[in-house]
Amino acid sequence: MDAEKQLPSCNAPNVDAYLTELGKKLAAKLPTGGVQYPFEFHCVNDKAINAFALPGGYVFVNRGAIEASDNEAQLAGVMAHELSHVALRHGTSEATKAQFAQTGVGILGAIFGGNAGGALLTELGRFSAGGVLLRYSRSAETQADVVGTQVLYDSGYDPRALAQFFEKIEAESKGQNPPEFFSDHPNPEHRVERVQEEIDKLGGLPRNVKRDSVEFEAIKREVLALPIVRKETLAAGRPTPSPSGPPSAPSAIYAEYLGSAFEMKYPDNWKKYGEKDSISFAPDGGLMEVGDGQAGMAYGVIVNVTKVEGGAGGEKALEKATQELIGTLQKGNPKMKIARQPGRVRLNGQLALSTYLSNESPAGGEETDWLITVIRPEGLVSFVCVAPQKDYEKYDQTFSAILDSVRFGK
Ligand SMILES: [Zn+2]
Repeated sequence: MDAEKQLPSCNAPNVDAYLTELGKKLAAKLPTGGVQYPFEFHCVNDKAINAFALPGGYVFVNRGAIEASDNEAQLAGVMAHELSHVALRHGTSEATKAQFAQTGVGILGAIFGGNAGGALLTELGRFSAGGVLLRYSRSAETQADVVGTQVLYDSGYDPRALAQFFEKIEAESKGQNPPEFFSDHPNPEHRVERVQEEIDKLGGLPRNVKRDSVEFEAIKREVLALPIVRKETLAAGRPTPSPSGPPSAPSAIYAEYLGSAFEMKYPDNWKKYGEKDSISFAPDGGLMEVGDGQAGMAYGVIVNVTKVEGGAGGEKALEKATQELIGTLQKGNPKMKIARQPGRVRLNGQLALSTYLSNESPAGGEETDWLITVIRPEGLVSFVCVAPQKDYEKYDQTFSAILDSVRFGK
């Protein structure tokens, strides 16, 4: 499925520029503990009241959130709340945090340029995109409210605006069809009271707080006039669930992928997801919903390039980096086991390690994950070939052909 239909850009440079200016102003007051996030802000042409942040600093604001804001302070409140989740490093598991940060660019490209499936590279066969990236806990919500309120306060905005906005959108829905925002950000108890407490701690409501701006009103008018993308094509940002039944057999004709670190071929009836250092290839029906709006790869190949500490080469470094990668994958996939310990092979003439892993398949039953790792100047290049155990034999040849086609740069 075309992800541009799932998460369409507003295609409104003014709006993105406005969100960026406002976002950076807020981010300047964010307690990041010295971490410099490369924040980017984008408007999504989706009427649902929502906004979401990818760890690593990509913030997406739905047009619906702009339209639902009565003033700039309320919009700033939603954005401050999202930024706080990033700064507080909420939501993603330890295993995925670093990977998300690393592959952020790939995800961005995947969402706006290619296909939502690109994000699946962040964890072996498991990903989610857009608003379904994660569901925060209520205590994380309260923390994001508290930090977000501080950010509003320090930026000169009415610090009550954050809680006011959430209260308003909840009241308007009257408990029916609650805004999409609440499906990812469960409403914490006593939200308004908690925010008021924080304002009191900060010394009470300052004088001359900013509530609105001419710019906000102009941007809101522009957003209201944007063409509407029909809701059924949005599918709430969720990746394509698989049609029933296994995917059709891999084509014997191969398409070519030219990356910066390597070239490779893949069956021409498979789709390419992601880009650059995070790319995967899967047949139609190779991605399956694994519940909770998440999708997993049941059939396909995932390729990742990850930086290696120290940049050392040699067999020792390859072994160490491979073990670390397996550890990371296992953290994100607790059921994953090593079925066959790493053994030496050659990939395009380079020393490589071949490891077999087993995991629960999104298609049901067990799956086999054949992992091949190589150290290159760009880092550890990993290929994970995924298929359910019962179908693995049918894919073995295809996987071998794909790996045989890999060519590294000079
Ligand atoms: Zn939240």
